Amino acid sequence: MPEGHTIHRLAQDHAKLYLNQELAVSSPQGRFSDGAAELDGQTFTRAEALGKHLLYHWSDTPLVLHIHLGLFGRFRNWRGEPPEPKGAIRLRLTTPDHTTDLSGPTACELLDPVAVDAIRARIGPDPLGNGDVERFVRACAKTRRSIAAVLMDQKVIAGVGNVYRAEMLYRARLAPMTPAKELREQTVRALWDDASMLLKIGVRTKRIVTVRPEESPGRRTRDGRHWVYKRPSCRTCSQDIETASLANRTLYWCPSCQVETR
Ligand SMILES: [Zn+2]
Repeated sequence: MPEGHTIHRLAQDHAKLYLNQELAVSSPQGRFSDGAAELDGQTFTRAEALGKHLLYHWSDTPLVLHIHLGLFGRFRNWRGEPPEPKGAIRLRLTTPDHTTDLSGPTACELLDPVAVDAIRARIGPDPLGNGDVERFVRACAKTRRSIAAVLMDQKVIAGVGNVYRAEMLYRARLAPMTPAKELREQTVRALWDDASMLLKIGVRTKRIVTVRPEESPGRRTRDGRHWVYKRPSCRTCSQDIETASLANRTLYWCPSCQVETR
């Protein structure tokens, strides 16, 4: 599942390609034909990333194109003349210079402003999008759920996924099962700041990098980019990494480094 940095980067990339241009919009697969017909020929005025949601705004309608990639959604870009659509292309955006195809999303739909407001209300503050850190602090102070569960809850903090969760908890040396409300406020604020910094690096590099180059000399393999996520042993102490299933996603942590409970 793409994490928040991917969604923000997509919004930036699509804005760069298409902002203030008239787009040909179609649904080669047919499952978004009515929506595509509504948008076809309109000018693309704004791309917005909200946690894991993309919201695309248009010149001649208050309706907003809402895309959620889910586990399988992906975009492909073409320069110049695009190929014939192949496979289940839900949405195709075209200008004379570029084409973008979307396949396999969980959501690709037109929403009215009321429905868009409902998404905004449902999504927690986004550390990449000037999110309100106070909302995050208040939500953490209220819940007995573990900090590991809370970091994956998009209503509490938007954009953090399974990789960032594991790495942020490691970087803070936090025991993942600690109830969020037992953490000191300064610990919670530091988690937010770390999420914000890591996600920004992710937008820039298109990768989840949580280890600074000086902390991991040598080639930047996937293994070299992470502290605990999907690693067999801890980068720092060589202890075996523990795993547990939490909210259907595998949590990774080092039981000897991550002992902080405050
Ligand atoms: Zn360790």
